[in-house]
Amino acid sequence: MSKYIAVDIGGTKILGSLFNEDGKILSRHKVKTGAHRGREAVLQTLYGVIDELFQSDVKSMGVLIPGVVRDGKYVQMCSNVPFENMNLSKLLEDRYQVPVLLGNDVSLAVYGEWRHAGYNEKHVIGVFVGTGLGGGFIFDGKLYTGRGAAAEIGHIPYKDNNILCGCGRIGCAETEAGKIGMLHFIEKEQKRGVSSSLFECISPGQMFHTNDLYDAWKQGDPLAKKVIKRSVRALAVTLGTLNTLLHPELFILGGGVMESFYEDICEELHNKMLSHTMPALSGGVRFVRCCLGDDAGITGAYYLAKEAVDEPRL
Ligand SMILES: [Zn+2]
Repeated sequence: MSKYIAVDIGGTKILGSLFNEDGKILSRHKVKTGAHRGREAVLQTLYGVIDELFQSDVKSMGVLIPGVVRDGKYVQMCSNVPFENMNLSKLLEDRYQVPVLLGNDVSLAVYGEWRHAGYNEKHVIGVFVGTGLGGGFIFDGKLYTGRGAAAEIGHIPYKDNNILCGCGRIGCAETEAGKIGMLHFIEKEQKRGVSSSLFECISPGQMFHTNDLYDAWKQGDPLAKKVIKRSVRALAVTLGTLNTLLHPELFILGGGVMESFYEDICEELHNKMLSHTMPALSGGVRFVRCCLGDDAGITGAYYLAKEAVDEPRL
C-alpha cells in the first residue's frame, strides 16, 4: 500500500503526518521550529520530522509553506521561517528520492477541505478568519495560485481607516476582519475609557482568546458586539467583491473566528455579502463551514502529494 507524507512548516512548530492511500493519518510527529536558530538548523529539524515518519513505501510528499511558493517547488517568500529564496523541494527530493510538492498553507487548507468533503462545486473560494484573513481559490476543480501567491484576500484594500496592516499598507480588509485588527480596535476603545468585560481578558502585547470574545458577545457586551459587527462588515464587502469578480458556487468559511461564530453570523454575513455583489450575480452561491480544523492544511498537502504521483500533470 502506498503512503504519503504531509508536512506543515510553521513559525512555531513543524508538524509531519504519514497518510495511507485512503487519506487516513497513520502517525504524526511534531517539534518546535526554533526559527531563530537560522536556516540550516531549521532544515535539520525538518529532516528529523520526516525521518521519523519516512518508510520505504512512501510515494511522495506535500509541504505547507507559510508564504509564496513558485511552481510547487521553490520558496520565494516565507513568513517567520528562514526558508526564503530556497529550492526546498530539490533538497528534499535529493535526500528522500521521492517527488516533493510545496504549496501555500492557506491555499492548501482550502484544497484539503474541498477534496475531503467531496463537494460537487468546482468554483470555490475558501476564507479563513483568524489572526489575519486568508483565503484560497479553486477554479474548474483545480487549485489556483496565479504566479504563486493568489488569494491574499485579507489584503484587498477595504477602508481608509489609518490602520497599518502587517503587509505594510493602510486599511486592508484584515485590519478590521481579523483578530489583530479586532485587538487594535479593542485597545483603542479601552484608551477612550469605554467599559467592557473584554478588558478582563486581554493583557498588553498578547492576543485574546476567541472564546472570550464569543462569551462576551453572547452576553451582549456592547464592545464585543461592535467588534463583530465591524468584522462582519469588512468580510461582507470582501466576499461581495470576490463574488462579483469570480462568481463562485461555494464559499468555504473557516479559521478560529468562524469556528466560534459561524452558526451565529453566517446568515447575516451571507445577506450582507449579497448586498455587496452585483445583483445579477447574487443568486445561488452557498456557504459551508470548514470541517477539518487544524488538519485542513496537511490534508491538502496529502492530496497534493498523492495527485502528483497518481495523476501527473505534464
Ligand atoms: Zn495588508
